[in-house]
Amino acid sequence: MAKKKGSNTVKKGKKVHKKSVRVKINKFYEVSGSSIKRIGKDCPKCGTAVKMGSHKSKDGQIRYSCGKCGTTVWE
Ligand SMILES: [Zn+2]
Repeated sequence: MAKKKGSNTVKKGKKVHKKSVRVKINKFYEVSGSSIKRIGKDCPKCGTAVKMGSHKSKDGQIRYSCGKCGTTVWE
């Protein structure tokens, strides 16, 4: 009698750990030489220091929302 080899023993692949994504602080700033170029939209209520997050909608419109006061601006 032939021995039955154990079935359903699928070797699981090694788990690949995703590299931790670093939060880009200079996302809104572009340093070129000695000058700093500001990228992004400023909140009209909070002032120039507060940047607004941009979200692209399906229609192609870009929605800017402020995380501080919650103002939403469509563009
Ligand atoms: Zn704001």
